[in-house]
Amino acid sequence: MAKAPTKSPNNSIESTHTIGIIGGGIAGSTIALRLAGLGLSVALIENGPSLVNGPPICHLHAGGNLYREISQQQCITLLKQSIEILRLYPKAADYRPTVIAVPRRDRGTPEDLFPRLQRLQREYQLLIDQDPANQVLGAPCDYFKLFSRLQLESLAQQSLVTPPTTLEHWLIPVAKSLDLDQLQFPVVMVQEYGLSVFRLAATASLALENLPNCNILTNQKVTSIKQQDQQWQLTLRSNTNVEKKTHCSYLINACGFRTGVIDDLVGEKRQRMVEFKAAYVTHWPSCDAIWPEVIFYGERGTPNGMAQLTPYPGNYFQIHGMTQDITLFKQGLVANTATSAQPQLSDKYLNKIDQQWPSDVALNRTNRSIDFMSHFIPSFSSANMGGKPLFGAQQIPGDDPELRAADVSFSDNNYARCEIVKASSALTAADQILEKLLFLQLIGPSQITSNSVGLTTTLTEHQISERAKQLTKERGYPIELAMRNTNET
Ligand SMILES: Cc1cc2nc3c(=O)[nH]c(=O)nc-3n(C[C@H](O)[C@H](O)[C@H](O)COP(=O)(O)OP(=O)(O)OC[C@H]3O[C@@H](n4cnc5c(N)ncnc54)[C@H](O)[C@@H]3O)c2cc1C
Repeated sequence: MAKAPTKSPNNSIESTHTIGIIGGGIAGSTIALRLAGLGLSVALIENGPSLVNGPPICHLHAGGNLYREISQQQCITLLKQSIEILRLYPKAADYRPTVIAVPRRDRGTPEDLFPRLQRLQREYQLLIDQDPANQVLGAPCDYFKLFSRLQLESLAQQSLVTPPTTLEHWLIPVAKSLDLDQLQFPVVMVQEYGLSVFRLAATASLALENLPNCNILTNQKVTSIKQQDQQWQLTLRSNTNVEKKTHCSYLINACGFRTGVIDDLVGEKRQRMVEFKAAYVTHWPSCDAIWPEVIFYGERGTPNGMAQLTPYPGNYFQIHGMTQDITLFKQGLVANTATSAQPQLSDKYLNKIDQQWPSDVALNRTNRSIDFMSHFIPSFSSANMGGKPLFGAQQIPGDDPELRAADVSFSDNNYARCEIVKASSALTAADQILEKLLFLQLIGPSQITSNSVGLTTTLTEHQISERAKQLTKERGYPIELAMRNTNET
């Protein structure tokens, strides 16, 4: 258990824990859940007012199928990690498939995708053979399915089915709305689901609040760090400028795109990049159906980059468009320098993160995202801005901007840094830290009694939905972003 806070000679509050985690995003919160769930005393320190309040998360990358350019091995890793994260946060997912279409204007072909999809299907089967509880993406034989133009034309004639229960049902509204002349065939449907940042935040917060040995310190920024007598001493400053100290034996840096700031404070050198990106919240009032997610492939950074349509209840849709005018930004991808482990984003992007967007910029980019999507879905041109953009900076360890499956790295002074690129990698990172703590004998093998899943799966749908809705209100987004069209199948 955490020791009771005490007053230091200079009257600031002090507390001592075995583990100190800086950063309460999905990485830090999941690590806290894993370690505090086993009885370790944990301080989770978060600068913002609530947990999992960083860049958006809308898609569970269960197979990495959104990224044609990444290696097959990264896709397999993302599949495995997504299954683990889905087992930990089952009520954070929207269980609807994803349609993937290759546009005619694209240089690739649908056939290019088949070998990887078949390999992922086999890997999914193997994971289920190892543990039947891994079957969280439906039957392996249904992991993906191909649809010809003829099939889409026939589906376009059928009546909508609510709720959709087969892949064909899910495709009906899409087939009715797509401009089929823009696409190559077949199109793919794959069991990649939605993942809501608000529902993840709600689940992690509720589960951590149930653990008395986890000290959640929100509105607290770590401003200085010292290591003395095998102990890390952290100085925290609150949003009302009150200082306090926390001590811990093992320090975990999970600061997202600001991981380099903490590396600099502890004198650790590290190579990394950060990328500022945004997605747009739109409302399509004339939509009369429950949609799957839809992806139109494209070459990243060109005017024909990938377009991603993510559905929410109430006719809300989130859009990514991988062009410089929509999701990507000029000089939005930066690397660190020889003198600092923290890549420096330009002030205009930091201001967007720390304050707010100029309203004309938000509206212009949202409108461009609607136009971009209307190229494939002409009736989407009647959509309008549905809320402020979802945005943030994403950390990418190393020097490969296409890295998508990343986790944790260690120094030999009781310090770990967690740099995930996708939310699905958070539990893998937590388990790697746990192994390190075992090695260092900060935890004994007999203490590893559970896999943490019970901490989250006992929370009710009502509890999670209510907290997630509260978070959307606090963060200024439509409550529909906290809701989902489908529950677990
Ligand atoms: C536009 C966009 C769309 C994305 N879509 C998806 C998606 O669909 N699916 C997906 O899996 N991923 C997606 N990502 C990536 C995903 O958002 C990140 O991988 C994820 O948020 C990283 O989580 P994290 O916990 O490492 O970092 P963060 O969520 O950034 O958390 C780090 C936390 O550390 C805190 N912090 C920083 N410095 C300090 C300090 N000194 N003291 C105390 N606290 C501090 C911050 O306040 C922050 O809350 C997207 C990213 C972007 C930008």
